[in-house]
Amino acid sequence: MTSHVENEIAARIARVRAETERKRQQRAGLATARTAGLARRHAQKLYRQANRPTEETTVPAAIRSALCPSCRQERPARLLMTINISGSPHDLLKCGESACELLWCVRADRPRTAAA
Ligand SMILES: [Zn+2]
Repeated sequence: MTSHVENEIAARIARVRAETERKRQQRAGLATARTAGLARRHAQKLYRQANRPTEETTVPAAIRSALCPSCRQERPARLLMTINISGSPHDLLKCGESACELLWCVRADRPRTAAA
């Protein structure tokens, strides 16, 4: 035979156990979410590092005189960027003539094309 006091104590112990179990499950859920978040953050960091623009692609735009293949004259040309093609640097130029605006590549180390 159990007394009223013993019943109350047993109920209180049950409540504390349930609360402890609820907190344990909450911590496990938060730990799982944190692990997933860290993995995603790490993957994003690696992605950003892999796709970070190199120094070659951040060359500021510059105006220079170049022989435009379309106009076949010396024109002010804007250096848009320098890119690597097959391991050698190439300048991407844009003709400054508003009627032309040709985009073309020249070897950065040999900017002049041979006269035709
Ligand atoms: Zn041109």
